[in-house]
Amino acid sequence: MTTESLIAGALLGVHAGDSLGASLEFMSFGQVREAYPDGLREIVGGGPFDWPAGHATDDTDLTRAVLLAYLEPGADLVATAGQHMLHWFDGNWPGRTPGSRPVDVGGATATGLTRFRSSRDWRRAGAGAGSAGNGSLMRCIPTALARADVEPAQRAREAAAISSITHDDARCVQACVAYTEIVVALLAGESAQEAAGAGVLAMQKARPADGAAAVELAIGQGLQIDLTRAVVKGDAGLAHGGTGYVLDSLSLAVAALVDPRPAVESLVDVTRLGGDTDTNGAIAGGLLGARDGLSAWPGSWTERLQFDAEFRAAASTFAAHYRSAT
Ligand SMILES: [Mg+2]
Repeated sequence: MTTESLIAGALLGVHAGDSLGASLEFMSFGQVREAYPDGLREIVGGGPFDWPAGHATDDTDLTRAVLLAYLEPGADLVATAGQHMLHWFDGNWPGRTPGSRPVDVGGATATGLTRFRSSRDWRRAGAGAGSAGNGSLMRCIPTALARADVEPAQRAREAAAISSITHDDARCVQACVAYTEIVVALLAGESAQEAAGAGVLAMQKARPADGAAAVELAIGQGLQIDLTRAVVKGDAGLAHGGTGYVLDSLSLAVAALVDPRPAVESLVDVTRLGGDTDTNGAIAGGLLGARDGLSAWPGSWTERLQFDAEFRAAASTFAAHYRSAT
């Protein structure tokens, strides 16, 4: 597996999970089961916001905002990422009427970006402690993909600062740090179990920082979830039922990562559970794509994804950087 394939697989995994889950967003497990007894297996759009098939929702759009910053960081990478998020927030964005607000902006994201607009400083942005949604975890993957060759401490600082633009609660920040280290381990060719272990190790090193112990527990919980069983029972045993809490989404993504079945099966099952399906799908999809590469995703999916070509081109750029650095 080439590094380029793993990077492209990861980016398109976020996009595919988002676009697959967008059709089921806010549905209960029972409602998903009734509409799609075997799970939704194609990217068809619709959902509460009536998305065109393969259209990015906030998860993919904000991942793209961070991705653009890594492609052209300018003088201050984190400020550039925040600036791209503001472009998205203010309606300067592909596929949207200029000047129109996104229909699907999360609460902490709106609060954090409004503060960032005034301060232009991630240290004086963010929705504050207690806002522990999954809105930064869903868009954190570019740090791992662009920075696999730097010291873990530098990577952790960047992941933490980019999370803090909107989500500065310690659980959100540390979840992004752990997720980043899991993805870096997958890019290095480590197995799913080893990569999950890299996330645990990162949290053990981060202790006693706030949030690290809770994130370590969430990874451990994910390792215990059997997705095949969870979609029979309609319950993965998550603290908040997979409805937007950052550590629920992280646990589900880890469960998908270590699921031995093909990536598509695991991702379909993540969205079958209902709840915050697009974001849970995006977070799990990123790990599955970093594990299996581009071949994880069927052509009938990727050809519909709004940013398919752009994400593949970004993967090519990052892979060329690693080749030239060695
Ligand atoms: Mg979304």
